[in-house]
Amino acid sequence: MHDERLARLADWAAGRARGPHTLELGLTMACNADCTFCWRQHPDTKLVGGTLSAARWREILDEAARVDVRYVRVIGEGEPLLHPEAAEVLRHVKRVGIRSYLCSNGTLFTRELIHDLVSYGWDWVSLSLEGPDAVTHDGLVRKSGAFERLMWAARRFDQVKRALRSDRPGLNFGLALTTLNWRRVPEVMVLAADAGVHAVNLEPITVNSPESARLKLSRDEARAFVADVAPRVVEEGRRLGVATNAHELSERSILSTNRVHLALLEAADRADGLLRAPCFNPFWFLHLRANGQLGSCGFWRPMHGERLGARGLEEAWLGDYYGRMRDWLLAGGLFDVCSDCNLGFVEDTLAIRAELRDLLAAG
Ligand code: SF4
Repeated sequence: MHDERLARLADWAAGRARGPHTLELGLTMACNADCTFCWRQHPDTKLVGGTLSAARWREILDEAARVDVRYVRVIGEGEPLLHPEAAEVLRHVKRVGIRSYLCSNGTLFTRELIHDLVSYGWDWVSLSLEGPDAVTHDGLVRKSGAFERLMWAARRFDQVKRALRSDRPGLNFGLALTTLNWRRVPEVMVLAADAGVHAVNLEPITVNSPESARLKLSRDEARAFVADVAPRVVEEGRRLGVATNAHELSERSILSTNRVHLALLEAADRADGLLRAPCFNPFWFLHLRANGQLGSCGFWRPMHGERLGARGLEEAWLGDYYGRMRDWLLAGGLFDVCSDCNLGFVEDTLAIRAELRDLLAAG
């Protein structure tokens, strides 16, 4: 994936506009859980109404295939499976032949949906699991029965994949690292292996509310996680065949959430050109909110920004709105929301920056 993104970024650097590589759909802003640390808890995240129909999403996906979008991410700005026509939208992503990713809280899968996703080869499903038992998980997502439903879905995927002899979709657990679960990650690895889940991805929480501030690891906890827990997680991963990013977390990265933009600003070049942009998202990543609002990622605020409306994707992508975002980044700026960016996005940007720098230097 890096190669194709790099090729497009190199074209932008040479003054040739390219279409989006990745399209992210925030299918709905509604949610049936109430995670303590969620982006939705931020006081500036004013939820706005309006949900595009499956027919409109189909048109958008048809155009995405025409303009060579390579990857579709269906995510929750709420829980995507709450969209009344979610199954149809997901089916259409594969109908138009684009690589696919779904992030879900795991509570709304049905037997039929799991069977469909396996049958037509959905590529990847990320389930947000916040602990190795119902008390921890349900407490953090503030929904009783959520743990049981999620684990049922994970196991069901595994059973159907075996029955249909398919290795897709790949499955991972995404876990937000908090004061209530950091010691328990080795147990999550065992649970993942038992349910046929391939990876456990950890993300230190971003503080979005006074309640989530109480869940952020202290310096001592972050240090103990890195020194004592992460090596055991990695060891369990090796033993059980479950991938993890635990070894990539440092004390600094765990504590730096809510100021992750500083790493992006530090890494950006001072000289003019694409490498001066601290973030490259508006050059390769198009985010569409449930109501059709355009953004550079799912964290995008304001909540009443420009919408796609009746336009096509390409027209919007090459229009003034994205043009202004790009100009701002090319002048070395970031957006207000970027301090709350997710660590995974930041590390991805830093990695692609290093590769792009080498590519451009090699001419
Ligand atoms: S929040 Fe992150 S991904 Fe989004 S525009 Fe800012 S730095 Fe880029």
